[in-house]
Amino acid sequence: MKRDVWVEFQASFFMDKIEEISSGLEFYVRSLLLQYKPRLTSEELHHLLDKLIQMQFIAKPQFNIDKSKVRQGVLCQQCDFQVQMKFYHGQFICPRCSMKDDGKLLRQALNDYCLLIDEWITNDKFREFVGIASLYAARRLLKKLNLPFEGENRGRKYFIDIKRDADNL
Ligand SMILES: [Zn+2]
Repeated sequence: MKRDVWVEFQASFFMDKIEEISSGLEFYVRSLLLQYKPRLTSEELHHLLDKLIQMQFIAKPQFNIDKSKVRQGVLCQQCDFQVQMKFYHGQFICPRCSMKDDGKLLRQALNDYCLLIDEWITNDKFREFVGIASLYAARRLLKKLNLPFEGENRGRKYFIDIKRDADNL
């Protein structure tokens, strides 16, 4: 037998063997699987599927937004959210139409911050975002918003509970 014919013969012999083994293995695995009943009923599987879908939606979406192009702060509803309201004597007031915020637009601004930047906000970041100079005035406002927080003094950060805020809008 010429060498390359012999190699071909050997190869086909082993291929047959491999096929034999693998089909035997498949049969073996299938018979093993048949011995085990599914752990979940179809109802439980549907429930699990619902949970997975919910988790998919709960995860914070990642937007590729140029933050420098987004208007920041408390925006005036009456001016189609085009004008940033100014903090004056404890209230946000629109410099164009003089509309006063009753707290709803501030919450909306925080929701924007949560979606665009972070779900945690410090006093410094809050002042920068809504345009308040006074640390104490900002602290009063944050306290009034009753957000859950972590840490003390300058290290304190507040959690923007977007779902609860949306309920209050
Ligand atoms: Zn306005």
